[in-house]
Amino acid sequence: MSKILVMNENLANKIAAGEVVERVVSVVKELVENSIDAQATEIKIELIDSGVKEINVSDNGVGMDKEDAVLCFSRHATSKLKDEHDLFNIEHLGFRGEALPSIASISKLTLITSNGKIGTEVLIEGGTLVSTKKTSREKGTTIIVKDLFYNTPVRLKYLKNLYTELANVTDYVDKMALAYPNIKFKLINNDKLLLNTDGSGNLLKVISKVYGIEIAKKMIEVNVSNEDYTITGYISYPEETRTTRNIITTFVNNRLIKNQDINRIILDGYHTYIPVSKTPYIVLNIEVDPILIDVNIHPTKMDIKFSKMETLTELLSKTIKEKLEERNLIPELKSYKHKEESISKKLEQLVEKYKEEEKEEVTYEELSLDLDSYETEEEPVIYENKKDRIKKMYPVGLVKGTYIVAENEDGMYIIDQHAAAERINYEKYMKAMGTHDNHMMDLLIPLKIELSNSDYIVLKEKMDKLIDLNFEIEDFGHNTIMVRSHPYWLPEYALSEAIRKIIDIVLSEKEFDPYKFTEKIAITLACKMSIKANDHIEMPAMEDLLDRLRQTDNPFTCPHGRPTIITYSNYELEKLFMRSMES
Ligand code: ZN
Ligand code: ZN
Repeated sequence: MSKILVMNENLANKIAAGEVVERVVSVVKELVENSIDAQATEIKIELIDSGVKEINVSDNGVGMDKEDAVLCFSRHATSKLKDEHDLFNIEHLGFRGEALPSIASISKLTLITSNGKIGTEVLIEGGTLVSTKKTSREKGTTIIVKDLFYNTPVRLKYLKNLYTELANVTDYVDKMALAYPNIKFKLINNDKLLLNTDGSGNLLKVISKVYGIEIAKKMIEVNVSNEDYTITGYISYPEETRTTRNIITTFVNNRLIKNQDINRIILDGYHTYIPVSKTPYIVLNIEVDPILIDVNIHPTKMDIKFSKMETLTELLSKTIKEKLEERNLIPELKSYKHKEESISKKLEQLVEKYKEEEKEEVTYEELSLDLDSYETEEEPVIYENKKDRIKKMYPVGLVKGTYIVAENEDGMYIIDQHAAAERINYEKYMKAMGTHDNHMMDLLIPLKIELSNSDYIVLKEKMDKLIDLNFEIEDFGHNTIMVRSHPYWLPEYALSEAIRKIIDIVLSEKEFDPYKFTEKIAITLACKMSIKANDHIEMPAMEDLLDRLRQTDNPFTCPHGRPTIITYSNYELEKLFMRSMES
């Protein structure tokens, strides 16, 4: 019996009617997803001229018999959908069934397939069946799409330049490789190898292929679950960021999705760890019962709705927070030369090892595989108590009135004194405002604050916000307000400046999100009230600052996401000064 069933018309209509093949990547996507559905463990994508001239996708999947090989080009035929209910389960990737006939209608297409018994070759040009013949092939399917849009010149013009087309394909294949570490992906354009994963199931290895070994080394593994969701994958150290959101890769049941809520939860998790303009590297798969999700059925969209969003939010935010808090995140300064040296050194060691094992020939692939495992071996220390992440540091001196140089048994540190003080004060203010301690300080002499006409009118409207913060305040008339007492946590030494700042925030705040409001106050006050660059502090003050920094929840960045501290390890210092030469 044929595996391909003809879909009923109703269902075909339900699949968004506007399905069109727009770009090279739409073709690659359809073919790759067909290969995955055919249980392929190896998928090779070869392009000529970014695929505009030729796209060749071959796999080792189940293949097709002669009947299916022809039937798959008729409209609304698909082996993937059996009834409407299936549409809402996203276990199957390509739920179109329309795309293959569409692709065949605008190109010169060759299908070579074999179910392990009979091989079939089908040739279609512009949607017309040219020939069908027997052929030999190992189990699997190859589809060659030549001259895309050759018979629709208007669409051909719509293709962007070769670079853009290739960038889109690369991005897509990278993400599929990340979604399916068990599948061996190979992407080639004009004989140039762009991606080559080993199909070993090791996601970190795929990450190193896609983003490079240095990024892979700075990834933190995630594997958590609650009643409804399981989240697995990797999130990056805060030091590894970029300005593009495209490095957040999220899957739901291995299907690539783009969901603004998920992205926001992730970025919130990194709040103050990275500047707001930056994005961490994220590769996460969310496993969930398909009953709990609603897939937008338009095939080109990848959005999804979760029916238990709260429990997902809680699990994801908690996990990111915990993962970031259990490590020492101080960026380590390294000489680039040393990285190269170490890789070549490891290569040498590997070659030596092979010699010992009397292996005559070692393929490059074998070598690079082994090299990868060498490179990702170092296990980072996990700290149960976050106060242990940084050992006590002893100040050595102050550089440019700004950077404290310090040391301990692990190495040398450079601390930005303003950023460090800002972090300490930020956490102090956040905690103070978070506790419901109504403790107030009375002013001996009430503070009169004069405002402009318009500010005065606005502030009178929003007076309750100040009262909520534990200010005792009254309208004094003539554009003036009188502050009689203030919350206990306000710094005495710059009181009127601090109060002015808070009033400015109250005036500028449009929607009162209580968390954002208090945070804004905390960040503004922390910045204003912290020692500045060029404040020449003495040794005891430095030591005190470093001790207090170590006690914070996140000693690694200021509330703006800038680093507070960087380090040269002992090892790195010895390396830089080539000290090993003399021993
Ligand atoms: Zn600042
Ligand atoms: Zn800052």
